[in-house]
Amino acid sequence: MQDKIWLSSPHMGGNELKYIHEAFDANWVAPLGPNVDGFEKDLEAFLNDDVKVAVLSAGTAALHLALIECGVMYGDEVICQSMTFSASANPIAYCGANPVFIDSEKDTWNMCPVALQKAIEDRISKGKKPKAIIVVHLYGMPAKMDEILEIAEKYQIPVIEDAAEALGSTYKGRSCGTFGRFGILSFNGNKIITTSGGGALVCHTQEDKDKTVFLSTQARDNAPHYQHSHIGFNYRMSNIVAGIGRGQMEVLKSRVEARRKMHNFYVDLFKNIDGVTVFSEPADDYYSNHWLSAIIVDEEKTGKNREDVRLAFLEDNIESRPLWKPMHMQPVFEDAPYYGDQVAEKLFENGLCLPSGSNLSDQDRDRISKIIKQLFA
Ligand SMILES: *Cc1c(COP(=O)(O)O)cnc(C)c1O
Repeated sequence: MQDKIWLSSPHMGGNELKYIHEAFDANWVAPLGPNVDGFEKDLEAFLNDDVKVAVLSAGTAALHLALIECGVMYGDEVICQSMTFSASANPIAYCGANPVFIDSEKDTWNMCPVALQKAIEDRISKGKKPKAIIVVHLYGMPAKMDEILEIAEKYQIPVIEDAAEALGSTYKGRSCGTFGRFGILSFNGNKIITTSGGGALVCHTQEDKDKTVFLSTQARDNAPHYQHSHIGFNYRMSNIVAGIGRGQMEVLKSRVEARRKMHNFYVDLFKNIDGVTVFSEPADDYYSNHWLSAIIVDEEKTGKNREDVRLAFLEDNIESRPLWKPMHMQPVFEDAPYYGDQVAEKLFENGLCLPSGSNLSDQDRDRISKIIKQLFA
């Protein structure tokens, strides 16, 4: 059996252990310390100097705190992009609130502004104005932020940007994760950089960051004894994990370049195969980190479907994966309202994510090429 080619695997830069050793040497083995501060500074500088970042135990935890800070409570409704990973929607349920799912549009595969507007008006007419909008930059592709922010502004609903997959992506030259009231990032093992597990909440004021740190460290009031006026969480990132993050920040730019190179490799590979479309930026305003490269397979034109491609890869020990199954199609959310058409459903039916790691070799690319050329010969 050939070595496995992964969809997206961790890729260390080299200095991660140096920062971890520093933490051990100074005994900062806790959910605070110089690596936590340093990682936050690095992220702030990378995103844009005006934001304030709080690093946390996971992107999911960041979303949970963002919802709480937007005032989401039991029985509220929160709008969420349907085509996404379940972690975008689960924190709505943690709050005892109810998700309202929105279809994708064809250019970016992200939240459709038309369906969003319809949903807000319909929910308001039914007596409940949604408390927040969770928009996702899927696979690194920026969503249509101008249109979405305009609607959000019109109805005065805060936007939470799920940029878990989009660190290094920009829209009109500005970093994804910095447009909404809050942005969330993830450093899980398969993301563009990883700390083994971790996340961050991107805030716009020191006050919001302080509140996030307070809530994520058990909400202790200022007193010599343990006193609490709020329900707290244990969501802060540890100083050891943050050390990995500092090492990864040194190589983030080159990781984005490598992922974009993988995307270009696929554009080239499929350029003469009529009926296979590589997911690409719709216009110059959109700059994707291409965290995962993805294709849409037209069965009528090619005589093959996405399962044929996936299974051909699998036979050669190459990992590929169907696109995210939309949340409105998931058994756990079957009762949630849904607005839109069948864009997300069709993408799920015909779409496939391809090996996209920044650590893939020319040999790996040759193996991928060979399978595709054989299958579509
Ligand atoms: C990975 C991911 C998350 C969750 O982040 P974790 O750090 O794994 O909790 C949320 N949303 C999307 C779109 C993701 O891909």
